[in-house]
Amino acid sequence: MTKTVNILGATGSIGRSALDVLSRHRGEWRVRAIASGSRVRELAEAAAACGAEAAAVADPALKDALAAELRARGLATEALAGPEALCSIAGDRGADAVVLAASGAAGLPQAFAAARAGRRMLLANKESVVCGGALLQSEIRRHGASVFPVDSEHSAIFQCLAAATPGQRASAVIWLTCSGGPFRTRRDLSGVTIEEASTHPRWKMGRKITVDSATLMNKGLEVIEARWLFDIPAERIRVVVHPESVIHSAVAYCDGAVMAELGVPDMRTPVAVALAWPQRIESGAQPLDFLHLKPLTFEAPDTQRFPLLAMAYEALSEGGGAPIVLNAANEVAVEAFLGGRIPFLSIAEVCRRTLDQVHFGSPDSPEEILEDDRRAREAARGLIDSSLR
Ligand code: NAD
Ligand code: MG
Repeated sequence: MTKTVNILGATGSIGRSALDVLSRHRGEWRVRAIASGSRVRELAEAAAACGAEAAAVADPALKDALAAELRARGLATEALAGPEALCSIAGDRGADAVVLAASGAAGLPQAFAAARAGRRMLLANKESVVCGGALLQSEIRRHGASVFPVDSEHSAIFQCLAAATPGQRASAVIWLTCSGGPFRTRRDLSGVTIEEASTHPRWKMGRKITVDSATLMNKGLEVIEARWLFDIPAERIRVVVHPESVIHSAVAYCDGAVMAELGVPDMRTPVAVALAWPQRIESGAQPLDFLHLKPLTFEAPDTQRFPLLAMAYEALSEGGGAPIVLNAANEVAVEAFLGGRIPFLSIAEVCRRTLDQVHFGSPDSPEEILEDDRRAREAARGLIDSSLR
């Protein structure tokens, strides 16, 4: 029987990878609803290509524009708009799976909606895992939802842990690999331009995550993401720089055995794993040819030049709302950097000062998380404004 899937963030880098994989399996999968933040033309084009029954845009003011784009293509696709519409697509019980691929903490309400509806969650939006913390995980368990990570490292860890018993997991060590980003070998980061920070040596991704990869904040977010997704404490999560990005991450067991997942860097692989698990389906990714592999290299991350990685560990150990504060400060700082308002090195500086200034206890509800997120953003913006004065 055909299965159905909804996609949030359908016009983004992950959303397009998901649509590409699904287009290879039209007999087995049908796209039911797609959503994006604002890009109505691209959303309508995606609806035309995948035949979605409904399309939704986060910005309510764009509903008519979306409807017009759909009509212009002769589509019967229903046009929806607003955050509630996106949450109902995330929690749609008529869909067999939902791809959560919005960018940033904006994806948090959608992740909670999917969890509470007990969905099969193909989870790319790492910020929702970072901010949702223990609360999101408990909602996932309580409502019988399941999570299949769509982050190359976490997909690798998921596969490496798949056969582990609870006893084996209890002492397992996660090795999270990290490409090192575009500035791995650059000594002085003070003059980094927007253009330089927006280009990744291995992966083609959205703007925000590309800058996060340049500051290593992306790896910091991934450490926090791994802590929650796999219920493994930070002490057993280690980061190793591996510039070739062939080993997507590994799990070391107490007997010395290390399981790793390897492949050509292509996000369609984790998408396909998440869609089909425990089966496997073709993704369109090139096969890995060991006979033509360049040497694989490894080094320790430099937390002097990239303090955000250490700050993520610090936020995890502080607990409470600290990961929410760090994530919010980072989102505000990256936006300011991309807008040409602060230099590259100020991203970490803004995060450091916001983390020192703002403290919250553990949130009890998604609403409280959003409120903490809002207040932390306000503080980060205040710091940026006063530094510009
Ligand atoms: P992107 O910027 O390319 O796309 C973001 C998508 O989210 C767009 O479709 C945009 O319209 C949509 N969007 C914006 N606001 C929204 C909202 N409020 N509700 C719903 N959708 C909204 O970003 P991306 O690179 O595809 O990354 C998406 C997520 O996946 C991020 O959390 C990122 O960290 C994670 N991720 C991405 C990659 C990658 O290779 N791109 C790898 C691992 C994890
Ligand atoms: Mg990743």
